Amino acid sequence: MNEADSEEMFLHLSARGAVRTDKLDEADAVLINTCTVRDHAEHRALSFLGRLCKWKRQNPKRIIIFAGCAAERLGNQLKKRYPYLNIVAGAKGIEHFSDTLNKSGLFTTALAAPLAPAPTLSAYVTIMRGCNFNCTYCIVPSVRGPVKCLPHEEILKEAARHAQAGAKEIMLLGQTVNAYQDGNVTFSGLLNRVSEIPGVERVRFTSPHPLYFTDEFLCTVRQNPKLARHLHIPVQSGSTRVLTEMKRGYTRELFLEKVRALQDAGCHITTDIIVGFPTETETDFEQTLTLVDEAKFLAAYCFKYSPRQGTPAAQMQLLSENVLEKRLAILLNKVRGLADQAYQRQIGTIQEVLMETENKGRASGSFWVQTPVNYPVGSLVRCPIEHAEGTLLFARNEHD
Ligand code: SAH
Ligand code: SF4
Repeated sequence: MNEADSEEMFLHLSARGAVRTDKLDEADAVLINTCTVRDHAEHRALSFLGRLCKWKRQNPKRIIIFAGCAAERLGNQLKKRYPYLNIVAGAKGIEHFSDTLNKSGLFTTALAAPLAPAPTLSAYVTIMRGCNFNCTYCIVPSVRGPVKCLPHEEILKEAARHAQAGAKEIMLLGQTVNAYQDGNVTFSGLLNRVSEIPGVERVRFTSPHPLYFTDEFLCTVRQNPKLARHLHIPVQSGSTRVLTEMKRGYTRELFLEKVRALQDAGCHITTDIIVGFPTETETDFEQTLTLVDEAKFLAAYCFKYSPRQGTPAAQMQLLSENVLEKRLAILLNKVRGLADQAYQRQIGTIQEVLMETENKGRASGSFWVQTPVNYPVGSLVRCPIEHAEGTLLFARNEHD
């Protein structure tokens, strides 16, 4: 989501003549787009901002923009702590980024016509901003505000613009992306419409919430081959008691039920897990470990719980750092082999691969596949899988 926001902000800067560079010495302006979901992320952004002090001193005309969720959370105190900072652009105001640039007086007027997006094989399209949930550990609703679904006509137009620029895959984005609703256009309806756009070969999305996987969605997956057979569904914990403390709105059993139905429809699942949420006992943690076995995840991103100021869980008694470290190490050890095992299970299958280079691409289930002969980038190739090494599948040479 932040990558998509960064692209959106960059379009406004490029409409004012900016071009991209990754060399700090060459840059006239730096845009730092930030995350605050865990303390560590915010820390990294702030320490980078601190290091820019010297860069700015070398040429005081240089411009620093601090944007995104940490900017939203810290607000005006940023300019007091970092007086050399020019623009603070919080996550809630991303739609008004162009006005923010105008008001700063630091940029020339924007071009009248919107710029075409940079051509990419896979393009992000934000369909929903904000979040209406109140998971007790999470700072997102306070820094991104309540849900706002973008009008479906606008989404389709943007997806079509990307497809015209060469995108073959569209990734729809939102914090509870499958809760999308615009009038009578449901999430499933939107998925079908996006996949009908000429040139679009595959549609992905992130992050869905387990509660919104409806029967309608299951039908759509079965009927629409362009929907990627990979879903990232954050579970957070395998213990119903902890899920209730987190206010996730589902039980372990319901989560597993949804996952099984989606797997029966051919989907591969990855997830997010938080270890050491306040009150998590050894028994709760063991339930997370057994859930990992039962759910047959393709991969799991595991995080130590990080208290976020102003969230309900921040009031709760923290578990010791020792316990967090120990549990994270055990969980990481458990999830380490998951991807390799899932890759091994694909031997003998036929995968439809979207080529990202001439001899490597991604299957619908998100597996990386290497082909024995070259194909044009962006083409779809049916590949019989002969063997797997780590997280790479090798397709058989059909002429052998
Ligand atoms: N909207 C998505 C998640 C967004 S945040 C959802 O509801 O699933 C991305 C991930 O960060 C979450 O899935 C969670 O695993 C992690 N996360 C969020 N807040 C956290 C916190 N306070 N401490 C540790 N991890 C956190
Ligand atoms: Fe945060 Fe929960 Fe909203 Fe996801 S659903 S962004 S975890 S509050």
